[in-house]
Amino acid sequence: MKAPMTLKDVWKAKKRVQAFLPPTPLLYSAPLTDLAGVPVYLKLEQLQATGSFKLRGATNMIHSLSNEEQDRGVVTFSTGNHGFAVAYAAANLGIRAVICVSERVPAAKIQALKESGAELHIEGNSQDEAAEICARLQREEGLTLIPPFDHPLIIAGQGTMGLEIVEELPDVEYVLGGLSGGGLLSGVGLSLKETDPSIHITGLCVEKGAAMDESILAGKPVHVPEHPTYADSLLGGIGLDNQYTLTLSTRYVDERIRLSEESIARGMAFLYERHRLIVEGAAAVGVSALIDRLVKPRGPAVVLITGNSIDPHDHFQAIKPFVESRK
Ligand SMILES: *Cc1c(COP(=O)(O)O)cnc(C)c1O
Repeated sequence: MKAPMTLKDVWKAKKRVQAFLPPTPLLYSAPLTDLAGVPVYLKLEQLQATGSFKLRGATNMIHSLSNEEQDRGVVTFSTGNHGFAVAYAAANLGIRAVICVSERVPAAKIQALKESGAELHIEGNSQDEAAEICARLQREEGLTLIPPFDHPLIIAGQGTMGLEIVEELPDVEYVLGGLSGGGLLSGVGLSLKETDPSIHITGLCVEKGAAMDESILAGKPVHVPEHPTYADSLLGGIGLDNQYTLTLSTRYVDERIRLSEESIARGMAFLYERHRLIVEGAAAVGVSALIDRLVKPRGPAVVLITGNSIDPHDHFQAIKPFVESRK
């Protein structure tokens, strides 16, 4: 890690983003409280303007750039929640955002990204090629790369969620959330555990591509094969030259659990049936772990409901086996 991060980085991020990102609600869940035997709350990050917490990190980093850097614009190769967050934060400042996408990205996704106000650069045959093209545009056009997780400003931005949680629920003891690139739990872990080291953090990974879990076990970044999953926002490697999130996730995540597809779908179905929340698989994993009794919180728990990027048809397919129609 180049320079150690501290709680102060998260407070600086909060000061920078708070005018743009009002705190998201912390919803008390009676059914999960019944089930877990401790008070359970849901941190509703899917209510962010772009439908995911990724807006925190992207806003923090883009607002930190110098005027010259902002004038030249920003670039990323994420077509997921991070891509939408970068597009939105840049549009808000009236600056240029370029998203590099491969020719394989489906037309519906391209359309949605275009509508988000970003400029699309469509070239290459894979996500890796899109990443290379992104690096080229960065050099040739002086654009600033906004990485999806492995950067102190992204991590600090995600960490602002942790400050909101302790502010509203100072007796929080357990926090459960998805663990993929590790920006989310590095940031939330930093803000919570540097405030109170006894807060327990559980990171949920997918069985079908647990890159961070494998990397923590190996003590270095490793590549893992990936397969389609309901929690597609939890896929993707951690970068073989990972600088920050491997170290910080190792330090702050107390426990990691891998979830099956069935468990993820059960969590999605529970959130729909009991709270009428439609969320993507990656956002349901904390609920899955609670209802499948894979974790045993001993005090007030918060589940990070991270995003809602899912096609309604796919959502219905996932929850169908677990919900009953009362018609
Ligand atoms: C990005 C993302 C995550 C995981 O965050 P990382 O910083 O990659 O660990 C979880 N849920 C959703 C909805 C996401 O978009």
